[in-house]
Amino acid sequence: MGQNRSGDQWLERGMTDWLQNFFQKINVPHQYLPVESDRGNVVAVLEGDPNLPTILLDAHTDTVPVEGMTIDPFQPKQKAGRLYGRGTCDVKGTMASHLSVIRQLAEQGDRQHSTIIATFTCDEELGQKGAIEIARQFSDPTASKTIIPKGRIDMAIVGEPTGLNPVVAHKGTVRWKIQTNGVATHSSRPTEGVNAIYRMGHALLAIQQYGQQLQKETGHPLCGPPTLSVGTISGGTSVNIVPDQCLIEIDRRINPGEDAAEIIEKVQTAANQGSNHDIQSLPPDMISLPLVDDNNHLVADALIEAAEGICDSQMKGVPFSTHAPRFAELGIPTVVFGPGSISQAHTRDEWIEIAQLDQAVAILHRLLTRPVGSSA
Ligand SMILES: [Zn+2]
Repeated sequence: MGQNRSGDQWLERGMTDWLQNFFQKINVPHQYLPVESDRGNVVAVLEGDPNLPTILLDAHTDTVPVEGMTIDPFQPKQKAGRLYGRGTCDVKGTMASHLSVIRQLAEQGDRQHSTIIATFTCDEELGQKGAIEIARQFSDPTASKTIIPKGRIDMAIVGEPTGLNPVVAHKGTVRWKIQTNGVATHSSRPTEGVNAIYRMGHALLAIQQYGQQLQKETGHPLCGPPTLSVGTISGGTSVNIVPDQCLIEIDRRINPGEDAAEIIEKVQTAANQGSNHDIQSLPPDMISLPLVDDNNHLVADALIEAAEGICDSQMKGVPFSTHAPRFAELGIPTVVFGPGSISQAHTRDEWIEIAQLDQAVAILHRLLTRPVGSSA
């Protein structure tokens, strides 16, 4: 994460071309919506019964890089009920389940199903630009060039490997740097300067203690206490100079209901008190929002009900972040849901259980073809 990655190998063009081709073949209205000059989203809309809820299904089109993998990342292999390859679990497995159910319903041709807005979003793993752009399209009344129907979206299901459990809450992340300043001088006369590394030393201890304190908080009922970790430190330019600058990088997981600006302020206060100096927090390098479970239990219940007799499915909270809050922010009841386990994602031998793919299709098919809350 965080490295500068550019060039064709990082982009989603192959996927978005493939998706457009797929929807062309099954005759489902679709559109490529550019996000940047060479990156974009695909949106497809399958109109259904207006009396059933309108449901958004999202799956991201990017994956993490393939360096260090012990299997061929691009040649999927089936073995012992598993499918191996980069992205099988995160999140092409989920995407395949969305495509499969859309194709089934499209071929059925009777419109006896929910209207489906299927979004295929770029850049989930790093910047969430795809989901941010989709959210903008939804909320911007002037964005009339899209095929996204105006009006209410009753629920959104964002695909990520959750073991077919609807995730209603997850943590977000804020990452930023804290800097101490000093006065550089010759190392033979250290008392004439101010050592920025020593200052950071005091601040660090205070931040560590503050982080330990956080662990004692009850936190969120499904997500547990918030966490804080200092991940990098750098300072000084040469051993014979008293350093005038030291920098650390902080990763703080945001619980549902917490605010990033307040979080930064609290850490800064702890650091200031520890070092007895004014320490500078730099603007955040990245913020991903937490998923708040204030209106989405209904969606989880509908999925759990649809899973009856197919698999054991339970409402959950998870520590990892997704771009689901970009949809939730618009007031759409949103959950994260998909086959596979997050522990198999981003791994050297990424895989997904094929049986779970079939279960995902069966659950979604049931959800999309009957009213929410109906036990029929
Ligand atoms: Zn993912």
